Amino acid sequence: MKKTIESIDVKNKKVLLRVDFNVPIENGNIVDDTRIVRELPTIKYLLSKGAKLIICSHLGRPKGKVVESMSLMPVAKKLVDYLPLTRIKFASDCIGKEAKKLSEELKPGEILLLENLRFNSGEEINDPFFAKELASLAEIYVNDAFGTAHRNHASVCAVAKLLPNAVGFLMGQEVNTILGVLDNPERPFVAILGGSKVSDKIYVIMNLINKVNAVMIGGGMAYTFLKAKGINVGKSLVDDSKVELAKNILDEADKRGVNVFLPIDHLCADALTPNAKAYKIRSAEIPDNLMALDIGPRTTKLFLKVLRKCKTVIWNGPMGVFEFKKFAKGTEKIAKGVAKVQGKTIVGGGDSIAAIRDLKLQDKIYHISTGGGASLKLLEGEILPGIEVIEDVK
Ligand code: AMP
Repeated sequence: MKKTIESIDVKNKKVLLRVDFNVPIENGNIVDDTRIVRELPTIKYLLSKGAKLIICSHLGRPKGKVVESMSLMPVAKKLVDYLPLTRIKFASDCIGKEAKKLSEELKPGEILLLENLRFNSGEEINDPFFAKELASLAEIYVNDAFGTAHRNHASVCAVAKLLPNAVGFLMGQEVNTILGVLDNPERPFVAILGGSKVSDKIYVIMNLINKVNAVMIGGGMAYTFLKAKGINVGKSLVDDSKVELAKNILDEADKRGVNVFLPIDHLCADALTPNAKAYKIRSAEIPDNLMALDIGPRTTKLFLKVLRKCKTVIWNGPMGVFEFKKFAKGTEKIAKGVAKVQGKTIVGGGDSIAAIRDLKLQDKIYHISTGGGASLKLLEGEILPGIEVIEDVK
């Protein structure tokens, strides 16, 4: 068990809180502030206990350079909206003289937000000197950035080793919910996986076949599995380097009595474009000149039938190229099906979450994960470095 913020005394202490404020920003405006809203309980708790709060986060991939469009300034403004009674200051560099001075001037109940950690090249290489600078601002370190807990970065790993530490509420909630479901699921327990990156998710399937009753695979990754079964997939997306592994996984699932459901029909096109003509292909086999861009209606019906009996569901990844309206139906129907499940449902990954949100189904989902990559690593059975480094409760 890792130390949590409830087990440490933060009164009058400078607390460095690592959060995941990697929010989408367009023209200086935050388009989705979910990650900020989900962080508020930890922030409010620490402030109420008299902490001097120094908040740090990354945003985007500026690769060690200052990129104005990736500044955390819009986040500072958003925090003012949510915490109108709290004094919030902003440091234009996450380390250095200004950050040091502002952190020393902080009073209990005040916030200092540091500029984007990734403007400094030390962050992503877990640089001990950068970590030391960052740690010198505070007396306690709290990690609540579940979205980056799988990254070996300075503000996640090296800093934690330099200060007394604990995890925040969001980190605790994410990890306990996901691991709780994996350890003790109400059955039937099913995983639905989709999206295009087979290499990201194939190890998740490998681990999950030890735990679930069935796996449903849709989206671009399904065609690597169909090819492994000797089915013609035409021009569909295939990761040839993973076909053999997919074959082994299917054999292993078979031995364990785990059903792997793959598309039995498809919505195809001859090109990956939004206005491409859609062809309904009523069999699993796909003609040579076409590529599957969505699961077909029979597959959707099959997946929904399985879902209706489930008590626990994990869903990550769209069932098709849902950014194109014509090929979004499969994903939308699965989103609605997941929302109807009477049991615990966990949804991760930007695209699946976007589908749930577009359909305004957030309230019908048991847990929406704030960390796509981190949640996949947990589902793979990995220990996340950002959590491992936190002190255990004695
Ligand atoms: P991922 O990042 O692995 O979750 O993949 C998400 C992406 O997969 C989305 O941008 C989808 O457009 C894409 N995708 C889903 N289904 C297909 C498909 N059948 N063919 C190509 N790309 C797909």
